[in-house]
Amino acid sequence: MIEKYRTHYSKEIGKKEYNSIVSVAGWIEDIRNLGSIAFVILRDKQGTLQVTCLKKDDKKLFEKLVSLPRESVISVKGICKENEKVRNGYEILPKEVEILSISDKPLPMGVVDKTGIEFETRFDNRFIDLRKIEIQAIFKIRDKVIDSAKDFLRKNDFIEVHTPKIIASASEGGTDLFKVKYFEKNAFLAQSPQLYKQMLMATGLDRVFEIAWYFRAEKHNTTRHLNESTAVDIEMAFINSEEEVMKILENMTLEMWNAAKTCKEELEILDIDLEKINVPFKRVTYDEVIELLNERDHKIEWGADFGSKEESIIGKIMEEENEVFYFITKYPLEAKPFYTMPYEDMKYSRSFDLGCKGLEIASGSQRIHDKNLLIERIEKCGLNPKDFESYLKAFRYGMPPHGGFGFGIERFLMQLLKLKNIRECILFPRDRTRLIP
Ligand code: ATP
Ligand code: MG
Repeated sequence: MIEKYRTHYSKEIGKKEYNSIVSVAGWIEDIRNLGSIAFVILRDKQGTLQVTCLKKDDKKLFEKLVSLPRESVISVKGICKENEKVRNGYEILPKEVEILSISDKPLPMGVVDKTGIEFETRFDNRFIDLRKIEIQAIFKIRDKVIDSAKDFLRKNDFIEVHTPKIIASASEGGTDLFKVKYFEKNAFLAQSPQLYKQMLMATGLDRVFEIAWYFRAEKHNTTRHLNESTAVDIEMAFINSEEEVMKILENMTLEMWNAAKTCKEELEILDIDLEKINVPFKRVTYDEVIELLNERDHKIEWGADFGSKEESIIGKIMEEENEVFYFITKYPLEAKPFYTMPYEDMKYSRSFDLGCKGLEIASGSQRIHDKNLLIERIEKCGLNPKDFESYLKAFRYGMPPHGGFGFGIERFLMQLLKLKNIRECILFPRDRTRLIP
């Protein structure tokens, strides 16, 4: 047995390893067997390296290596030799090879094959799909941007919280929820942390954020909706207006964008050149958007939320003005959920959506903190205040003005990395038809 399967990753090997013994480990990406010499391309977390095996050096070891199916996992202990003809500048001459796992044949899909692989095949075999460097790059960037969001929020005095995902009733009405059996009762999977993060504003914690999973039983099957998705949610107390929430949102987005920019290698693999963005983001009101749409001969009834058609026209208009991100503010009250703070006229609301290149990536608002107004709005929205007892209770014993937003992580990544389908941004997507793997 090789005493340490891996002493070096492919990219850690340099001049100081030349002519010494190293152990490398990974998946066999390819074997080129020329009869007396074989080149094995081994792939690890950092990239690939070449193991060069000469039959005359060790016939048994040679036969063992070349007989292995692609994607088998091995550890190789050998001498690292400088070789300018090899891409990495070195090759490994094996002394010992240990087979850690033999791959079945044929592979359900190739890792490096250039032939187009069907979307469904890729997602049926997502663990193989994830062996591709361009797919891994998405998740390395995902990790970076989420980390930067947390970092930014903590620096701005937010604490991370976790609210229940099994809930007794709908948080907002409107969205379809997944029903689950909860002992002798029915329960639902949370579509958002909305009601809980608002209840936390009655505690004195003042600034909270949550990064978690949400479940929406909407039957639509689009390239921008998942039935299980992740979001950055925040709620902050003692605000004067929705503008304070927007400032946090735009600065967090800027941090995330700039964090992605530091992933140079991954961006290069994905062939993405990230544009420079600045804050403040452009702000346009709902009414101004309606006018802009009218100018482009696109009529939409006042009061309705924007659909994908409108979103994409708005995106084009903003692109012409070199705006990557933009806020749409002051939505009609009737277009937003019951907890949204109205303007004094009761016609408009203190709400905003953050758009990015024609796609909504976040929604937020100042919320109602007055209990009577909240009950009035719940009723106006055709809901029953009785179903919100425990939530409403939090407004009866001291609730400061507050607001917050929900920011879709997959939506952000999709726009950041110019991906055509939101499923690319989540490891194992859940959609209308996919529940496996
Ligand atoms: P849309 O109108 O685009 O369906 P929404 O307005 O219903 O979205 P919100 O309830 O405002 O969504 O949720 C906050 C954010 O969460 C959205 O701005 C979006 O980024 C993300 N999001 C919402 N629904 C989904 C979904 N089904 N799949 C992926 N992300 C979603
Ligand atoms: Mg929204």
